[in-house]
Amino acid sequence: MNDLVRCKKCGKVFLAVSLDFATHEVEKFNSYFDTLTDEQKKEYYGNNKSSLEDYTICFYCGNSYVDFAEFNNEVNINGCTINPILHFDEVVTEGVNEGVSEVADD
Ligand SMILES: [Zn+2]
Repeated sequence: MNDLVRCKKCGKVFLAVSLDFATHEVEKFNSYFDTLTDEQKKEYYGNNKSSLEDYTICFYCGNSYVDFAEFNNEVNINGCTINPILHFDEVVTEGVNEGVSEVADD
């Protein structure tokens, strides 16, 4: 999956990623985050861990990922920074709206 999608609200373009990919990225980031000192966590990331929620809202206007549409490559977007967001076909059943709370141990 390598689709570009566009926020219907603000028109920004994102790279649509699968739920598997997003989940993996969140885990990867948080593993790295855990290796930082408290000072680094605060300085680099405002002491915020990653969560799946980051992939479900528009970075610019806060719109939900389900309110996105496919974006056809009509416009040259080379050189732009494209942020990832969950593909609008994905259905999230857990891991959202948990904020920065810890994941329970199995
Ligand atoms: Zn938006």
